[in-house]
Amino acid sequence: MDTVQIEITDACVFRCGNCTRFCGSKKPFYMEMDYYRRAVDSMVGYPNMVGIMGGEPLLHPQFAEICDYALATLGKKHLGLWSTFPAGYEHHRDTICRTFDYIFLNDHSRGDIFHSPILVSSDHVFRNDPENPLRWQLINDCWVQNTWSASINPKGAFFCEVAASLSMLFDGPAGWPVEPGWWRRMPWQYGEQIEWACRRCGCAMPLQRRSSQDERDDVSPDNLIQLGLVKSKKVAAGDVVVHEAPQLVSKGELAYHQAYKDTAWRQTVAAKYGIFLEVTDRGFWRPHLQKCISAASRPSAFAEMQAKYQ
Ligand code: SF4
Ligand code: SF4
Repeated sequence: MDTVQIEITDACVFRCGNCTRFCGSKKPFYMEMDYYRRAVDSMVGYPNMVGIMGGEPLLHPQFAEICDYALATLGKKHLGLWSTFPAGYEHHRDTICRTFDYIFLNDHSRGDIFHSPILVSSDHVFRNDPENPLRWQLINDCWVQNTWSASINPKGAFFCEVAASLSMLFDGPAGWPVEPGWWRRMPWQYGEQIEWACRRCGCAMPLQRRSSQDERDDVSPDNLIQLGLVKSKKVAAGDVVVHEAPQLVSKGELAYHQAYKDTAWRQTVAAKYGIFLEVTDRGFWRPHLQKCISAASRPSAFAEMQAKYQ
């Protein structure tokens, strides 16, 4: 995998529909520093990227200390940050540029970013034909597993970041112990976690996606019962859409869900913190400080010329 995430909190300033961390559903956690240091230590030797992620990681009260420890232990070229750049946390911009070689920004300020219906379970989608081999073919081809990350959260280490947050949400089984080299496991060792998580998850199912700005979650009746048991705040608030008979669509009919990769738009998000982004040879976004926030917020020379001569 390209990245392993360390999820330091599931608190967020938003409560997007079908959030992969189920923000707004439960009381948030803030990772304890001893456990966090163990998580970072376990990644020593990992050749790719370690992500600091949430929820919104900047909301962690020890964010600066978290950055310092990761930088000293793993080195800048192995560190990425996933953030919305929330208002009121701009003072972290120096720390961010000093610590991370990559930042992945998505402040959900555009409506064309879509989220998969995670809580429409594959168990329910295939309720009438549970032995249908298509189900496990789809799971084997899950886009999250193919393109996103493994993860460490307070429950342990997981092969899939969504499996990790499902386990947090449903008080599910613990992950693997957070110990050096846990990430060397191979897919044939994922069986127990796949068996527990992928049955409850809808990400691998070609089901229509929802705009992230819609704060409701799509759920299947079996997961609705489980959400009741864990006293989901979103269920209590009526912010769920229950799918009794979810319909698979062709992959071509699915809403495009990666509009957040638009570099020009990401520059505008970064500019809120007085940061500009350089696209690296790996296609990621490296942060640099602008001299001052107002300079970063100004339109580029190109945009000024375009406005003048159009
Ligand atoms: S910004 Fe991200 S973490 Fe926060 S609620 Fe939205 S999807 Fe979830
Ligand atoms: S839990 Fe399974 S189905 Fe869900 S995103 Fe992870 S790999 Fe895909």
